[in-house]
Amino acid sequence: MKIGVLGIQGDIQEHLRMIEKLGHEAVWVKRPEQLKELSGLIMPGGESTTMIKLMKRFGVWEPLYQMLQNGFPVYGTCAGLVLLASEIENYPEQDSLSALPVKVERNGYGRQVNSFEVELVIPVLGEPQFNAVFIRAPIIVECKDSLEVLATYNDDPVLVRYGNIMASSFHPELTNDTRIHEYFIKEVIE
Ligand code: GLN
Repeated sequence: MKIGVLGIQGDIQEHLRMIEKLGHEAVWVKRPEQLKELSGLIMPGGESTTMIKLMKRFGVWEPLYQMLQNGFPVYGTCAGLVLLASEIENYPEQDSLSALPVKVERNGYGRQVNSFEVELVIPVLGEPQFNAVFIRAPIIVECKDSLEVLATYNDDPVLVRYGNIMASSFHPELTNDTRIHEYFIKEVIE
């Protein structure tokens, strides 16, 4: 399968490496016409406001918005989750792809210095627990529709699925554990 990583800003290489490790073709996506050839897309962590600006400038925003409505599988990590969320709290208004019915608080887990790692229980993945890295991560403060919550931390959802959309507030690409990427490919894309 060809799986894309939105390659405009953020930790792109790490996601590309995960996809390749799982035996699929990884595509660094910068242009709108690349989207059509993909089975699914990962939106990396980074800075959501910068990503929005550049996605619009590169002409990726509008076609992706449409594709998400039509069931295109997308997995957003951290800033990628912010881009997918239908509502964003606590910051001046910013655009959203509005594909995931949640309200998020940007940087809800604190600033860069408050970054942390935690072992998460993720029932769909079984043992061992998953080493989750949180860096200026958004908190999902409200679910506006029934989502599949795949993992929680302090009772807040941190890994969710909503039909063709998956999102995590943490960064699985920063570990060597490929199980979440594999889950996205096997359960959401296939
Ligand atoms: N705080 C960033 C934002 O809101 C996300 C941080 C990250 O992706 N690690 O865009």
